[in-house]
Amino acid sequence: MILDIINKKRIGKELSYKELSDVFNGYLDGDVPDYQMSSLLMAICINGMTDEEIFALTKIFIDSGDTLDFSDIKGIKVDKHSTGGIGDKTTLIIAPIVASLGIPVIKMSGRGLGYTGGTIDKLESIPGYRIDLNEKEIIKQVHELGIVITGQTGNLVPMDKVVYALRDVTATVSSIPLIASSIMSKKIAAGADKILIDIKVGNGALLNNKEDAKKLSDLMIKIGEFYGREVRTTISDMNTPLGRCVGNALEVKEALDVLRGRETDNNLTDLCIDLSTDMVSMGLQVTKKQAKEMVLNTINNGSAYMKFLKLIEHQKGDISKLKVSEKIVKVKSTKDGIVKKINALELGKLSLRLGAGKENMNDKIDYGVGVKLLKLVGDEVKNGDVLFEMYVGKKEPQFILDDIYKIE
Ligand code: URA
Repeated sequence: MILDIINKKRIGKELSYKELSDVFNGYLDGDVPDYQMSSLLMAICINGMTDEEIFALTKIFIDSGDTLDFSDIKGIKVDKHSTGGIGDKTTLIIAPIVASLGIPVIKMSGRGLGYTGGTIDKLESIPGYRIDLNEKEIIKQVHELGIVITGQTGNLVPMDKVVYALRDVTATVSSIPLIASSIMSKKIAAGADKILIDIKVGNGALLNNKEDAKKLSDLMIKIGEFYGREVRTTISDMNTPLGRCVGNALEVKEALDVLRGRETDNNLTDLCIDLSTDMVSMGLQVTKKQAKEMVLNTINNGSAYMKFLKLIEHQKGDISKLKVSEKIVKVKSTKDGIVKKINALELGKLSLRLGAGKENMNDKIDYGVGVKLLKLVGDEVKNGDVLFEMYVGKKEPQFILDDIYKIE
């Protein structure tokens, strides 16, 4: 009985594969109602799961849909996933860097969640860009170009779609076992040989402290071992937004600038170089020192930038039509001092309220809106200096400047 299974987890006992399968598959099939599934998810959140339960749940997720087979494509396929953050456009930068060095990149990305933006929304800001390639088209493009960034194909881990939607509205997103099985099932079903996970920690991320990030990291490595996939993780800060821009078209422009070597002095470029180095060392089986040299080279000689342009063209995007909003509001400092902090969460909220993401399921994203930071952490500012520009669309939200910028 479903009720007995929920009760067993409530009192902290281990569930068997069959018990987990009965509830989760029952939910996917529509036989288990939202309220019972929510109740089990909350019991999992509170009491956690054993490794055996997590392996079982990951398998149940993978088996709920198709698994992709890219074994015909030569080379080690390294996939990368970020647990999500504010201004996180790293995929747009890292994927072309890695592909330009001959490592096949097949990246199936997702949409924004809460205050965090999604790679697919950012790419959709490029008029015409196709995010719906099927398996045949993916394989053809990887053979021709060595890189694809598309949305998740139709029936990949359908269980995650329904369970995630429920977690999102039942305060059960931040469960480490549930995050681990959600991410790892998608990466394994998508056919990656090796996987790099960027775990974000901070007020603009799902996890707020390093201990939880470490636990998630250990767990994902263990799931990888169970499935014979090498998993590496990095833990990176998400108290401060990544780079200067938050908002879809603005972030695409910023990614192009980083690939052109125009934005070299901020946390975004540093993180992209670190993550690319890891992927290249995994994909080409070279040392990190060798990998880093290759990464810097492919940026400096323009190959990574050209790869991104070719990717956009191949997926029918027209970069010349990329538009940001023409209405720009300059937000100025009211004091002298040094920027001590830029609050990622508050900036994410502002960007969402500008229309860069969805506040409600039926909202339409305004791809041209967002925020561009002119002053970063550590910069000196004078009263009257512009701190950031707001690219405004239909909505011009109110905000409290001190909540976003801490200047002392
Ligand atoms: N990203 C995912 O894909 N799943 C989670 O559960 C959390 C972040």
